[in-house]
Amino acid sequence: MTDQTHPLTLYNSLTRTKEQFVPQDPKRVTMYNCGPTVYSYAHIGNARAAVVADVLFRVLRHIYGEDAVVYARNITDVDDRIIQSSKETGFPISEITEKYARIYNEDLAGLNCLAPTHQPHATKHIDDMIAMISDLIEKGNAYESDGHMFFDVSTYEAYGALSGNTLDALRGGDRVGEGEVARKRNAADFVLWKPELHGVGWDAPFGRGRPGWHIECSAMAKATLTETLETDVIDIHCGGVDLKFPHHENEIAQSCCANNEDKFANYWVHNEFLNMGSEKMSKSLGNVTLVHDLLKEWDGEVIRLALLKAHYRSELNWSEDLLRESKAQIDGWYRSLLLRKKELGDFYSDKSDSHFINMTNLLFDDLDTPEWIGGVSDFSEKSTEEFESVISIITENNWERNSTNLAGAIGVLKAFLGTFHILGLLQKDPEEWFKGNTSSDDQAEFDAIAKRRETARAAKDWPAADAARDEAKALGIVLEDGPEGTSWRKA
Ligand code: AMP
Ligand code: ZN
Repeated sequence: MTDQTHPLTLYNSLTRTKEQFVPQDPKRVTMYNCGPTVYSYAHIGNARAAVVADVLFRVLRHIYGEDAVVYARNITDVDDRIIQSSKETGFPISEITEKYARIYNEDLAGLNCLAPTHQPHATKHIDDMIAMISDLIEKGNAYESDGHMFFDVSTYEAYGALSGNTLDALRGGDRVGEGEVARKRNAADFVLWKPELHGVGWDAPFGRGRPGWHIECSAMAKATLTETLETDVIDIHCGGVDLKFPHHENEIAQSCCANNEDKFANYWVHNEFLNMGSEKMSKSLGNVTLVHDLLKEWDGEVIRLALLKAHYRSELNWSEDLLRESKAQIDGWYRSLLLRKKELGDFYSDKSDSHFINMTNLLFDDLDTPEWIGGVSDFSEKSTEEFESVISIITENNWERNSTNLAGAIGVLKAFLGTFHILGLLQKDPEEWFKGNTSSDDQAEFDAIAKRRETARAAKDWPAADAARDEAKALGIVLEDGPEGTSWRKA
């Protein structure tokens, strides 16, 4: 990218091309992401969708300013599966949904995802959904059948533009259960409102009942992002590819008809699947790895890096090896930070620094995180000697041999780390990173061993220095000698 005023490009699923991102109002950039249905723990595939959206959120905040980006990610807290779970377990619905919404937020915070600006709960926006459905009925886009309100897809000619499932393509298709077909005018018609289930329902002019899933997002996006604006078009809508059809297609149909707009979102950003072996990770296939469990074993930054190692539009194969590889890489980066902590100071880079601009431009190219993570070789060709030296410092961890260009190298490293900051990585103090999950008693003991070695080295008492190192090794820690003295880290 050469145009620094609008450096971001995004692949738009709607136009099927990579486009320069131009917000409607750079002072108020809007994005919506379909959030979880809260009846169980999130798996790492769900987390991929959230982390991709978080990277986009962070990049937008970097470009347009932190207060200029408004991000809504909903909580679906009314759903047949939740009602079912309440019936089976005897727990009240609100107890189930509050518990899993809290765990979802904690898990994502553990992966360094920023809280969205708005987190609307479906049950708090039933009035908005009823208003939108009433509007659709009035406009002739919705009809009643057998106690349900359906959206009539034949009234929206542009149906299918996002997924290719146009009305022609769908005609005669058997995409719904037979019972449902009998109730509908067209097989692709979808439910806006259905009768109450096990006593769960709200009063509406068209009968007591509960909302369909699709209408929730249309109503919540409008309520949180565009209600006070002249337009009801949002800038960006995100989600996993599995949501393109029918969910996003249906969101578009009902939002465009209700809002009298020819678009719901200007840019549609879809992440590919995270797979386990050759299969998509999904609850229905029973091959899920929960974020909650992963966080007990791995630091959130390791999991986050593993998720960002594939481009968001490529499938990602999840494995222990991927996590191990990510841990080794991130350990190396933290080690560099640790060794040059003093010189680095507050490492967040100056936005006008040329190295920083070069590096962020990789992220701005459709969020190309793997190119950024692995693509340092690209930079080494184009950039200065200092940069090359810092790359070898980073990759080899060999600071001393490269100390000649240290000042320049530190500048480049700052730029490098500054972009990590945008990605939500390397957010910890390097000492904390290596000491992570160590009790304070153990920390005191390890500190004492490190001090013993430091004192022994200063006195050139090599047998004592070796003894301290061996003692550390037996306890599963590694002692590192540096210009500041001896420190320890977990092996
Ligand atoms: P769900 O709870 O199934 O509605 O999913 C929440 C979000 O996670 C949606 O954006 C889905 O598209 C996304 N998602 C679900 N499974 C996967 C997966 N295996 N890989 C990537 N994204 C997924
Ligand atoms: Zn949605």
